[in-house]
Amino acid sequence: MRSVVVHLHLYQPPREDPWLGEIEREPEAAPDHDWTARVERTSYRALAAARVLDGEGRVRRVVDAYARASFDAAPTLLAWMADQAPATYAALVAADRASRARLGHGNALAHPYDHAILPLLSRRDKVTEVRWGIADFRRRFGREPDGMWCPETAVDDETLDVLAAHGIRFTVVAPHQLEGAPAGGRPGRWRTGGGREIALFPYDDPLAREVAFGGLLRDGRAWAALMAGLMAGGADAEDADEGSVRSVATVAETYGHHHAQGEMALAAMLEAAAAEPHVQVENFAAVLARRPAVDDVRLVAPSSWSCPHGVERWRTDCGCRADAATSQAWRAPLRAAVAALRGTLDARFAQEGAQLFGERGLDPRVVRDAYLGDGVGVVPDTRDPVWARELLEMSRESLRLEASGAWYGDTLDRPDVRMLLRHAARALALAGPQAPAIERAFVQALDAVPAAGGTTTAGDLYVRHARPALPAPVRDAAGWAALRVD
Ligand SMILES: [Zn+2]
Repeated sequence: MRSVVVHLHLYQPPREDPWLGEIEREPEAAPDHDWTARVERTSYRALAAARVLDGEGRVRRVVDAYARASFDAAPTLLAWMADQAPATYAALVAADRASRARLGHGNALAHPYDHAILPLLSRRDKVTEVRWGIADFRRRFGREPDGMWCPETAVDDETLDVLAAHGIRFTVVAPHQLEGAPAGGRPGRWRTGGGREIALFPYDDPLAREVAFGGLLRDGRAWAALMAGLMAGGADAEDADEGSVRSVATVAETYGHHHAQGEMALAAMLEAAAAEPHVQVENFAAVLARRPAVDDVRLVAPSSWSCPHGVERWRTDCGCRADAATSQAWRAPLRAAVAALRGTLDARFAQEGAQLFGERGLDPRVVRDAYLGDGVGVVPDTRDPVWARELLEMSRESLRLEASGAWYGDTLDRPDVRMLLRHAARALALAGPQAPAIERAFVQALDAVPAAGGTTTAGDLYVRHARPALPAPVRDAAGWAALRVD
């Protein structure tokens, strides 16, 4: 029996204005309101009701691909979806429940709260991201997660140790992130420096590339034949196949958004593969429950699926880019500016948190973990509830600065970077009496970040697009007015 697992990673960079919590209209996404809405309509919603055609091109049935595929969705996207696309959100939750009934293990994987490159975080920040992510998963899917998806599949030993310490039993990686991986796509076992164990599933990279960038989505049946290993044939091949896993992992927007009707190819493939007698269409957790990872592997660390240089794409000019005519000399100084700002904000949180929460015998780190862990926005009783809320929101905004999107693209002046700077401005607005001095140092650091052409800097972008120039109530009113224009 061979296992076939298709993993779908659902993520959109949070586009909500940090002050309003709403997304401004993006005209280039028309007819949709914004890009998140566009991808939801063309991919996420389409995957929940994908048409399977008969030989004459008539719709034979409509299937929920999430019920047959492994998937993860970032908590920030799920929060948007629960509000803006409740039917798709309900489909994800129902698919997890249906897969538990069918396989004994749900299709959904947890995701850290923010789409952060975990190896770039301190252990403390890793812990918070993982705890918030697990708590969000528990609230939405009503169970403990078996696996967790790491953004950009970026891992190092500490990341895996933190996952394992929180009961996560597996994650998914690209094959180049492992050495000595067992044959046949079977999971390897990683023993962490902290003395814990976690299973690592390497997906089939050539196949994933063929799905994402090649022509495989033009023909679901041909794809099914490939997944099922039908060309091998014969009893010997079946023996060799016993316990093997053919898995594909891509971003979910591959289906529908990047490739029109890709969701139909996926649905057709899943149906055709499920009809094969020696194939089981299932999820990673079900595979692992039947056949635990017993072969030790070596980890290439830090590493990720989208940067051959490790995790450099999110901090240096490593050479990763889409357009060779662009320069990424801005990456390292932007990372340095953000790291310095985060250092200052985190020190304030630690110091004032120890003072305020310490009066109640509480550790500020534990208070932060509980903030989005035990419920949403839980602030413990203190003598100054506004101060307490400010500190926690500031720390939350500080963590949001780690969202990967700002560093991934080619150029400095992009929506992702502007959003990062707006979250920085929001964090600074919560930074108390020292905020003007902290902001001056931040802008000075941003002025060392060159934009293309050399005429502007990240400091200019911050002042023009992020720093609040008007009192908050006026900004709020203007923002609401902008949102309501059709
Ligand atoms: Zn790179």
